[in-house]
Order: sequence, then structure tokens, then C-alpha cells
Amino acid sequence: MQTDLNKQNNFHYDDSADLLLVNGRIYTVDEHFTVVSQMAVRDGKIVYTGNNFKSKAKETIDLQGKCVYPGFIDGHCHFVYFGETLVRYINLKGCSSFNEVIERLQQHNNNDSNWIIGQGWDQNLWTSENGSQPFPDNKMLNQLFPDKFILLSRVDGHAVLVNDNILNLINMNKESGNPKGILLDNDADIAKAAIAPLTDGQLKTALLKAESVCFDNGLSSITDAGLDKHTILTIKKLQDEGIMKIKVNAMANPDSTFDFFINQGKLETDRLKVQSVKLYTDGALGSRGAKLLQPYTDSPETEGFIVKDDSFYRQICRKAIDSGFQVCTHAIGDGGVRHTLDIYSEFLSENNDLRWRIEHSQIVDSTDFQRYGKLNIIPSIQATHCIDDMSWAGKYIGTQRIRNAYPYRRLLSENNWLVNGTDFPWSNMNPVITFYSSVARQDIDGNPKEGFQPHDALTREQALRSITIWAAKGQFEENVKGSLETGKCADFVILSEDLMTAPLSQIPNTEMLSLYINGEKIR
Ligand SMILES: [Zn+2]
Repeated sequence: MQTDLNKQNNFHYDDSADLLLVNGRIYTVDEHFTVVSQMAVRDGKIVYTGNNFKSKAKETIDLQGKCVYPGFIDGHCHFVYFGETLVRYINLKGCSSFNEVIERLQQHNNNDSNWIIGQGWDQNLWTSENGSQPFPDNKMLNQLFPDKFILLSRVDGHAVLVNDNILNLINMNKESGNPKGILLDNDADIAKAAIAPLTDGQLKTALLKAESVCFDNGLSSITDAGLDKHTILTIKKLQDEGIMKIKVNAMANPDSTFDFFINQGKLETDRLKVQSVKLYTDGALGSRGAKLLQPYTDSPETEGFIVKDDSFYRQICRKAIDSGFQVCTHAIGDGGVRHTLDIYSEFLSENNDLRWRIEHSQIVDSTDFQRYGKLNIIPSIQATHCIDDMSWAGKYIGTQRIRNAYPYRRLLSENNWLVNGTDFPWSNMNPVITFYSSVARQDIDGNPKEGFQPHDALTREQALRSITIWAAKGQFEENVKGSLETGKCADFVILSEDLMTAPLSQIPNTEMLSLYINGEKIR
């Protein structure tokens, strides 16, 4: 009788646990949002959650009232690129003028490399007399660094400024168009592709550096939104060797990488998953590449653009349907979102559970919301983008359209779940800030006072689910992680604050005290 009871609880009381947490507020994030005081772990899995653990444990931690949450999952980021920026990119974030950009380049320039690569400039931070902030041109770069190859990515990664040496290298040295040296989206990608790839040693260093920063922020899992085969297999090798411990959901690039994984089948290990493909429909709002249904309010000559021919999207979606892969498409403008919905509609039927995603879903025409629910299309949002963009987005798209921008609550209501992430390094990677931005829709100083379009805020419970169990669901892993339930991986964080009850203004100051992955203490 006793044995049967124990079996029902999936735990034999005669077996001791490896680790027991007691006296905590443990947010299981299960279906009923249960909070318990104790959790036991054995062999990397959760074997008990409740308030009355009866068996022994090799190690017991008295939480002294501290809060435990499932390990945070970033549902959309650029983990590998972030690592690359740590290895060889000059950080241009926060520069308040183009002169400051130049100063930082001069500080970091050395004779070891022919390349100067920078990332993070944002002309919206530069003050100018008439209020509008045009893109810079490459004149000063050519004058000051005549022998170097220079590529400087804008903060959103969709625009780059390159010098004439690179324009010559890629046969794009033309005078017309944007300020000289500015390349957008497809052209920017051509320039980036000309940069020498990381050596294997650099790649390993990049991965481990990126992982370390993620751990500091309480992330146990990340989704990298677009990787090539070599990088994915390098991650697998480092994980297999026990060197890399972060869990990675890798979206495949829509090229030979996708074909490779279609042929060999989805990859699914304890820490690595490849079961999706990444597409781009349009560019970014900040560089006016996001495709709008009507022209930009402050730049009526442009409405952004769709980056590929429809035949390309159809071909990839067809392959995905046939092979059971998930499609995840970047779409930011209301035109880009509609285009993606139109393409998806050709392949999806109602009641499907393929979880095809629209990454960002930043501006959605009011008639298009219901199409997410109708075909079970999942929005993948980055709540911090709302905070990053709120000071200038209205100027770009006008007072009407801004009401349908960053519409997180309405997107959530379509399927009753969504994926949240950060798009780092394009935005702050800290999942606590994602939580805070989702709920407060304010910057960390509490502005604007009433929140930016507060009717589209998430509740605290929704925000927590969006960076744990729903993010797991967005990669078909809700049965193995994302909540603290018996049988699931023991991935969890201990925080200094109670995200559910602390005053909102206190949340950004939350400290990550400990991180465990598969029951192993990482931080
Ligand atoms: Zn992205």
C-alpha cells in the first residue's frame, strides 16, 4: 500500500535525494501556479515538490524564505553573435555622437588586425539641430583609417556602416542611395559575410564567454535565432565534452544548414535541440527596414521592404511542412507580419500544433490579430524592445499605428500563451528586466509614470510563464523543462526578490543568487 502511494508520487521514499531545498517560496509555475516550500532533486531531475519531504538528502539548503523559479529561458536571442562581439567587436553602445564612435575606434584600434569591427551604434541617441537623426556616412572612417577594413553594426544589426575598403571588397562602391557606406539588411549581410569567420579557437572562446554572461543573468536555456551547421556541431561537441552546460535551442539557417538537419533528422539531446528554421521577412524599425502597410510617418518616401521573394519563403515552408520542422520568421512591421501570416496560411490548417512562430510581431494591424489564434501561430516577443523603442517609435509610425505596436496582451489572448525573450545583444539579456518590462512597460527609472500603452502589459504570472514554461513550449520542451515539477530537469534559479509580490520599482534591482542546471550548481 505504502509502495503504491509512493509510486503515485513518482518517488520512493527509501531513496535519498541528492539535494533538498527547504524553507523557500518555490514557484513551480505548474498549471495551477502552485507555490511550495520544499523541492528535492536526484540525478538531475526533480523528484519532489511539496511541503513535507519525508526522506533524507545528501545536501540540504535552507532557503530562509528566498524565492526559487524555473531556470529562465530566453526564447529568442543571438547567443553566438553575442559571444563573437565579446571576442572581437568594439562596443559602440551608448555612444552619444558619431565623434564618440570614432573615439572608441581610435582607442581600440591596434596593428594586429586589418579589421575594425564594431557593434551597437544608434543614431537615435545623437542629438541634432533639426531633431531628426540621419545615418552617418563613411567619410571620416576613410580618412582616419585608410588601411583598415571597417564594419560597424547598428544597435539592431540590420544596418551597418562600412568604409570604402569594404565597399570595394564586395563590389558595392556606389555613390547613390543611403549615406555612403550605409548598407541595410541583405546588403549588410553581404558585407558581414566578407568578415573572416571566427577560427575554431575564437568560436570556442566566444561560446564560453557568452555562456558565462548568461549564467550570471540566471539563464539556463537560450534559443539562438539562426545558426550555421558548423557552429551548431561545435556547440554539440563542447556540450558532449561537458565543457558547455547551457541548454541551446538552435534555429537552423535556411540554407545548407537546414537541408543538413532535414536529412539527418531533428537533433535532440539533453542540452541541444535543432527542430526549427529561421526566416527573415523584413528589417528593423530603427533602420526603417521594417515593412509597413503604409509609408513611414516621418519618411513618406519609404515603407520598408520584404527581404526575399515569396518563392523563397514558400520553398522553405514546404520543406518544413514535409519534414516536421517548425518555422520561425522575423517580422516587425505590420506589412511584414501580414506577409508572414499570408505565407503561413498557405501551409497551416486550423487546429494544427506545429507552433509556427512570428518573431517580434512588433506592429500588428488590428484586423490581423485574430489570424494568430485561428491558425495557432505563436508570437515570440521581446518585451524590452518596447522600452528600448518607446521614445522614438511613435515618431516613425505615427499616433494611429503606435497603438498597435508592442501589443503583447492582445497577442497573448489569441492562443493564451506566447514566447518571450530579448534578442540580445540587441537588447538587455537580463530575464528579470524582461519580466519587469512586460509588466511595467516602463524603463528602469519608472518612466513613463503610467507605463507605455499599459493596456498591453502582461500580468506578473503571465510574464513569469512567458520566460519559463511558455518559452519551453515554444520549442516543444514543455514536458522536460520550464516548470518545477516531478520528472522534469532540475533547472532553477534562486533570486533575492519575490517577483510576484515585490514593488515593481524594486524588481530591476533583483539579484540572481544561484543557478542550477540538471541539479548541478552553476552559480
Ligand atoms: Zn533576432
